[in-house]
Amino acid sequence: MESMLFEFSYFGKSLTSDVPYVSVTDSEEAQRAEVCDVCGHQWKVLRGSVSLNVEGGRYWPDIMRVDGKSPMVVVSSRVMDGFVSVGIRGFASYEARVVGIDSDTLSLEKCPTYYYLELCRGIDVDPDASGIELEYACRACPRLSKIYDANAPLVPDLSTWEGLDVFTFRNIRSQIRCCTLKVVELARQHRWSNFFFQFMGANPLLPVAQRKIDYLGEMWPPTGWPPWTQKM
Ligand SMILES: [Zn+2]
Repeated sequence: MESMLFEFSYFGKSLTSDVPYVSVTDSEEAQRAEVCDVCGHQWKVLRGSVSLNVEGGRYWPDIMRVDGKSPMVVVSSRVMDGFVSVGIRGFASYEARVVGIDSDTLSLEKCPTYYYLELCRGIDVDPDASGIELEYACRACPRLSKIYDANAPLVPDLSTWEGLDVFTFRNIRSQIRCCTLKVVELARQHRWSNFFFQFMGANPLLPVAQRKIDYLGEMWPPTGWPPWTQKM
């Protein structure tokens, strides 16, 4: 069954790419403690305005990497405006101020306003369909461990999706950011730069060129697009 849901990410994970390499300078101050009311487990989340240092890069993208180990992502005000214009649900946003620019090219260009997005947990992984085993310490909080091959595609349990437009997985910790077609089409409509979209559950072993959806391409829907979109 073809999923109507997508995963989104960004390009630029190294200092040599066209997009700047970003680090958070004050993550300690923006960290908030969360406490699970079921098991009492505490953990920290980044929730609040953050300051960013950027290095390298040749243009200011609409989406940037911040921390490869979490679903944390920074988007431009163009993206935020697009989200607000059509009522995209599933996130909290915080100011992300660029305080340091170590880039000859970018220091000459006007820096956009950026926001850090915290994504809601919006869908469960179907462990059986994904061929993985989950070991839970608590069903109510991130206090659980996943046991699976990180390269295995995660199959979502669509019956657990509550209709959010941007979200992350609920029953496992993962870096995967999910979205609906509405978001992909917003990105196309407004020509957002540097987004990477693929179908949810696409085989991560396939080359990026085969997985990525050409959301800025001339043809829409693109070649190989599943038939369900033809009706829309
Ligand atoms: Zn708990």
